[in-house]
Amino acid sequence: MSSRGDIGSQPKILVCDDDANVRMLTRQCLEAENMIVVEAASGPETIEQFIKERPDLLFLDVEMPGMSGLEVCQHIRGLPQGEATPIMIVTGSDDRESIDKGFSAGATQYKTKPVNWSLLGRDVQYMLRASNAFNALKRQEDRLRYLAYFDPLTNLPNRRSFNEQLTRILKRSRRHDSSAALLFIDLDNFKRINDSIGHGRGDKLLVEIARRLTLELREDDAISYITHDDMQDEEEHDGSTEIARLGGDEFTVVLSDINDLSDVERVAKRLLVKLSQPIALQSHNPVVTPSIGIALYPNDGEDPDTLIRNADTAMYAAKAEGRACYRFYNEEMNAKAVEHLKLEEELREAIADNQLELRYQPQVDAKTGAVVSMEALVRWKHPVRGMIPPSEFIPVAERTGLIVELGEWILNEAARHCHFWDERGLPQFRICLNLSPLQFNEPNLTQKVADFLEQSGIHPGRLELELTESAIMTDAETNIAKLRELKALGLALAVDDFGTGYSSLNYLKRFPIDTLKIDQSFVADLASPDGEAIVDAIMALSKTLNLQVIAEGVETQEQLKFLLTRNCHLLQGYYFSRPVYPDDVPTMLDQNYLDYFRSAENSG
Ligand code: C2E
Ligand code: CA
Ligand code: CA
Repeated sequence: MSSRGDIGSQPKILVCDDDANVRMLTRQCLEAENMIVVEAASGPETIEQFIKERPDLLFLDVEMPGMSGLEVCQHIRGLPQGEATPIMIVTGSDDRESIDKGFSAGATQYKTKPVNWSLLGRDVQYMLRASNAFNALKRQEDRLRYLAYFDPLTNLPNRRSFNEQLTRILKRSRRHDSSAALLFIDLDNFKRINDSIGHGRGDKLLVEIARRLTLELREDDAISYITHDDMQDEEEHDGSTEIARLGGDEFTVVLSDINDLSDVERVAKRLLVKLSQPIALQSHNPVVTPSIGIALYPNDGEDPDTLIRNADTAMYAAKAEGRACYRFYNEEMNAKAVEHLKLEEELREAIADNQLELRYQPQVDAKTGAVVSMEALVRWKHPVRGMIPPSEFIPVAERTGLIVELGEWILNEAARHCHFWDERGLPQFRICLNLSPLQFNEPNLTQKVADFLEQSGIHPGRLELELTESAIMTDAETNIAKLRELKALGLALAVDDFGTGYSSLNYLKRFPIDTLKIDQSFVADLASPDGEAIVDAIMALSKTLNLQVIAEGVETQEQLKFLLTRNCHLLQGYYFSRPVYPDDVPTMLDQNYLDYFRSAENSG
């Protein structure tokens, strides 16, 4: 392996010039900087040496007999290992044209003759450093991409991959006029088991379940396991299996090209037996049983959403029937769907009926310990069912479009609270409001926010809108314009749940955003190397892009300690405070958490 990207070791420079004197002078300058020099006297020799030596940088004369430096440059850029290596070309002094040609041939930097030997070593050092930084960023991007498609705990494809896989399989099934089955697997009482054996062992348990699923389904000869790499072979496969982890203790299996219901039944039975065997975890040997819901294409649904919904319904039915069993979907299972309809109905009333309330959760400045902003979080006090968490009703509101009305209510309510606090002479802290994807996609959103700012008299600088990564990355090109409009109103923009979707660096650079909000799942994962790696990657990214970073879901001193060492700017989580009533916001603002920081930093 080469030393490429390894900042600590000696960089290797390939020097190509037909003039032996120039080569010698260059060698002296670079060796004085503690670099290793390899020489080539012609174009073809350069290419040969480049492949053999894998240099960290190429120093290339343009005017050479035979193959010119520009041709060499172009050729090297076409090599797989030559894409990212910095190339410095050297041309005659007033040769603008070859400089331009050099850049289009892929040169990174140019020097004109006569070369200023005293500056050469420093310039090469500088180029190497820039290239190292770029490669590090590239690795982080790869890592983020991996995390966007795979669950780092089990290495199974994640929810996003699953959605894409299912869509692909259904399309193919339609073309081939074949059947498919979706198995929804949920572990029984996982939460209770997880709490009793501890989360570390809980994670091991999930890894073991994933291993058994993969082993069991891969063993089957009729079934092959397709990974992302051989997607193009997909057409040739008959009867394939896709496994994914949707999150928590939810797994899915998709079987395609099934001939007979009994095939599906056999798989379900086998999974039931295999997954239910005791799992050896140090002094514990817990038994976890799965409940499996099955929906069939095309009978139970022809599109992914319907199929997922019905498999989910069947899974709930399996649970209701005593767990540790599998159930095929049938129409009568729609009770749950009816339940949803009812919730929808009631949510409509809730808005009119003042059953909704806002709570505020403080965000703490990691330098001063002061509370500098508050995130508004909505609550539903249902007259009969009690508190319904937003995770249950926001999706309903999204599906029905009620979210637009709900969003307006939230804006106005937050404005009312601001006035209430202002009258008490409180400092002007920032208010963070969540915008759901559907709200963000409203065509007249900017106008609505502008009207709101004007009518409420709220200073735009006080407002930060939180948008989820997936909302802005879907159709990123269009969203740039939209985000710019919003930003022009003078408010701040944050990317919520950052790291859970795949953000292209290219777009992130162009989005006028202020803050990245590290998804709480990564903060919760900080005990593991994977969790630390992604937080580090996000911190590095934010530094490059000059963005502020906030970590949410901070629950423990260890998490706080880690985030402080990484210079995360803002912190939010139960460790500081749960979301509080508007009346309690004044007391919250008086808090200072420097003591927390000190004891975290001094803890072992
Ligand atoms: P989110 O925007 O990611 O909000 C953070 C959630 O994490 C909140 O849950 C908050 O109470 C919770 N949380 C804060 N600190 C901790 C912690 O230390 N540990 C743990 N385990 N959780 C913590 P909540 O209030 O239940 O909200 C859930 C989600 O519902 C929000 O996720 C957001 O997506 C949505 N939501 C909440 N309020 C609104 C709203 O006003 N408008 C919209 N559109 N969505 C909202
Ligand atoms: Ca949020
Ligand atoms: Ca979040």
